[in-house]
Amino acid sequence: MTDFYGEMQKELDILKASSLFRQTITVETPPEPWIAVGSQTMLNLAGNNYLGLANHPVLKEAAVHALQKYGTGTAGSRLVVGTSALHEEVEEALARFQGRESALLFSSGYCANLGVIQALVGRNDYVFSDKLNHASIVDGIILSRAKLKRYRHKDLDHLEKLLKNTTAPGRKLIITDSIFSMDGDRAPIKELVELKQRYGAMLMLDEAHGEGVFGPKGRGLAAHEMAAEHIDIHLGTLSKAFGCLGAYVAGSKTLVDYLRNKCRSFIYTTSLPPAVLGSILGALKVIAGTAGDRLRRDLRNKSKWMINELNKLGFSTLDSDSQIIPILIPGNDNVINFSKKLRQRGILALPIRVPTVPKNSERIRVSLMATHSMQDLTYAVEQFANIKREERV
Ligand SMILES: *Cc1c(COP(=O)(O)O)cnc(C)c1O
Repeated sequence: MTDFYGEMQKELDILKASSLFRQTITVETPPEPWIAVGSQTMLNLAGNNYLGLANHPVLKEAAVHALQKYGTGTAGSRLVVGTSALHEEVEEALARFQGRESALLFSSGYCANLGVIQALVGRNDYVFSDKLNHASIVDGIILSRAKLKRYRHKDLDHLEKLLKNTTAPGRKLIITDSIFSMDGDRAPIKELVELKQRYGAMLMLDEAHGEGVFGPKGRGLAAHEMAAEHIDIHLGTLSKAFGCLGAYVAGSKTLVDYLRNKCRSFIYTTSLPPAVLGSILGALKVIAGTAGDRLRRDLRNKSKWMINELNKLGFSTLDSDSQIIPILIPGNDNVINFSKKLRQRGILALPIRVPTVPKNSERIRVSLMATHSMQDLTYAVEQFANIKREERV
């Protein structure tokens, strides 16, 4: 008989030997700029709570209100008895927020990418995907069985060549992150719109890290570039800047009707619970209001300042131009050691390694919040400088 557990243990030992073994850390406070991890209070540079909304009184109150009125769970999938008035209210609000005909909720960004890509393309179709797209996009493409044409990161010439060479019939779908999740740089949205028009492709934009943070009222990077109307499939997550959970697709009524009928990750799962829906409505109020404008401006200024300070110290932050800042420390052992030193100084910023990023581009991923104080960030920069000096990296 095969020794299943023995084999698993061997694989785990290999991960440990190459500094790739992963473990969770336990956080005992809300995701604020300072968090309690065990007995230590740490500066949180690792979360995606970009606008500080995940512990915001407006969201919490809206969540409690919805919970009291509708209960803890829906106990139904959307096409059975899992669609409440609240689901419809949230979808209408999100469609209005994006200025699109319709919107459709999903349990998470991961579920949305898995289901949407699978619904839109199949065996005889083509997907053109940026090499650094999020893992959930990669998995959605695999599930769809469409033919994958991967283009080099943000390389429009490469993408155009692939589009030009794809002459067989079949749907063409171009997919990209708007703000790349591990590099913090921006997709060339206007140019992608041009290419999709020239070659008759659909364009899907994953705004996970742009949603709430960029554009007028926080509509995302495409809105910031005044290209939102040309995005066929806008995917926004409600789990990051929104501080809630879930995701949505906004687009034409036809698209949304199609997904409601064809998308397996929409159909075959229990719908989002009332408390989450309430918090999403609360988040929309803050994000689309003047408080949202102020938070976005703060986050933008702090991000620019931080990138500039780290560059002055000689760190590469790649092409980051957002609240996600990669600090390159190549080598597994180096990056883990650097992260440990940060932790000893009360800073939580995690090392990112293979397979999340390519070998030799290991990095510390810093993500900022609008609610970090300048004092917090100055402290962080000083510690980066000290560790760099001590470790000679
Ligand atoms: C985080 C992320 C997702 C997944 O969203 P969840 O709501 O966390 O499941 C999808 N796409 C990108 C680009 C992301 O960064």
